[in-house]
Amino acid sequence: MPQQKIPLAEPDITEAEIQAVVSVLKSGRLSIGPHLEKFQDACASRAGRKFAVGVNSGTSGLHLCMRALGIGAGDEVVTTPFSFIATTNCIMFEGATPVLADIDAESYNLDPDAAQAAVTDRTSAILPVEVFGNTSHFDRYEQIAKEHGLSLIEDCCEALGGELNGRPAGNFGDCGVFAFYPNKQITTGEGGMIVTDSQKIRDLCVSMCNQGRASEAWLDHARLGYNYRMDEMSAALGYVQMTRLDEILTARGRAAEMYDRALGGMDGINLPPRNEGMSWFVYVIRLDDDFDEKQRDALIEYLRSEGVGCAPYFVPIHTQPHVAKLLGTKKGDFPVTERVSVRTMALPFSSKITSEQVEAVADALRRGLERI
Ligand SMILES: *Cc1c(COP(=O)(O)O)cnc(C)c1O
Repeated sequence: MPQQKIPLAEPDITEAEIQAVVSVLKSGRLSIGPHLEKFQDACASRAGRKFAVGVNSGTSGLHLCMRALGIGAGDEVVTTPFSFIATTNCIMFEGATPVLADIDAESYNLDPDAAQAAVTDRTSAILPVEVFGNTSHFDRYEQIAKEHGLSLIEDCCEALGGELNGRPAGNFGDCGVFAFYPNKQITTGEGGMIVTDSQKIRDLCVSMCNQGRASEAWLDHARLGYNYRMDEMSAALGYVQMTRLDEILTARGRAAEMYDRALGGMDGINLPPRNEGMSWFVYVIRLDDDFDEKQRDALIEYLRSEGVGCAPYFVPIHTQPHVAKLLGTKKGDFPVTERVSVRTMALPFSSKITSEQVEAVADALRRGLERI
């Protein structure tokens, strides 16, 4: 029987999104137009913020936040080694020094006590991440930032629609950044969105994403800038996706429940961390501590051979060559991150996954666990 492939992630695009993009193409106005404004307003509103600035990726958004906050050489930024690489790269772009602190094993987010302990008199900001959409500890990070007079940048690229104590993801600290790569809760193809209450941060980001322009005048450049603009096709797509966000989040929540039921009680497997305001980004299981990295990798290989899309998630940032070279970090430096990261793997997950697919993944996992 031919095995049907189950993708690791899948965007949720309906006819409404297709029509929106086609209508932009027909309008002839493909960049700097009304769709960007509409999408920005929708994102600001969802994050409970005054302003939103659309950019061409989450990484660009994080980079502009660094610059808007004046973070550069000599500054230290406390962040997590258990994240997507962009979290640390955006600090390195500006010649500032990432200071990694370990995670807590319950949420996989930056451990607030470890973050606090990493603060020195050179620290200028803290950059935590809602790992896999878990919003835990963001109130604590805010307290730490306030106590030490630090900027707080929320990397909420994995947490659109999440909440903590009634406050939306994107609402914490000086500014936050969402991302819209096709595996995220909603997508624009490529894209990102900075959210903030600060007029100054907003104005700087608007200018810097648009070649440092000071005004609408085309060749009036007030500062060093980039072309990080979001185009109108992406913005129109993103806006329709935003109008469907709650529907998509509900479907993702249901997918997580299906997995919980199918995998709950399976020997050797720990279900993903979650908290009350979780926005499900990926479904990442962790093998028991008596499994090692080789066995996890063998399990991933077996699942892939069975047509099940899966991946190690995340590879620790402090072991990536360019980071290790800059910071002198090595294996063993962040024990909790390493204990987690060598045993975690993401399973196929999207708003469109069916119960049959979830059952097929569970069956393949059961068989795989017997082999490793
Ligand atoms: C997706 C993501 C980003 C940004 O990714 P882009 O591909 O640049 O949009 C940044 N941080 C985290 C934690 C992410 O998951």
